[in-house]
Amino acid sequence: MSDCIFCKIVEGEIPSVKIYEDDLVLAFMDISPINKGHILVIPKEHHPASSTISEATAGRMFHIGSKTGVALRRALDYDGFNLHLADGACAGQVVMHAHLHVVPRGVEDGFHWNWRHLKYADGEAAETAEKIIAKLKI
Ligand code: 5GP
Ligand code: ZN
Repeated sequence: MSDCIFCKIVEGEIPSVKIYEDDLVLAFMDISPINKGHILVIPKEHHPASSTISEATAGRMFHIGSKTGVALRRALDYDGFNLHLADGACAGQVVMHAHLHVVPRGVEDGFHWNWRHLKYADGEAAETAEKIIAKLKI
């Protein structure tokens, strides 16, 4: 896509600091990291949403995400990492070319996900699951 910054990175029209590249995916340094070493793994093909990415490419993204996460731990002395993918603007997606964040984490890095823990009423989780299953297309 001509106006997509990540497609331009794939094409080399915008410079990036590359970590890994193959026929399906590219991994490069995020320009504005949560912690230093933060990596993005993208499909080389333009996909705004994750659901249209082929199983082979999505699998490769996850594989490279995990492998680069381990490399971050070993190379930069982190304790762990988060794999994060925002699908849709409401979920925090800013660049509309699907991408997997590999966020290096340290025990005392001072970063916290703003996670919450709602409760289901009796039977509500099963009813909700039925609705999801009815729409699930694999
Ligand atoms: P999102 O919020 O869409 O999940 O994440 C987009 C990410 O892309 C952000 O973390 C942002 O720092 C990164 N980013 C945006 N523009 C560029 C760029 O031109 N080069 C690189 N390397 N990263 C970028
Ligand atoms: Zn793109």
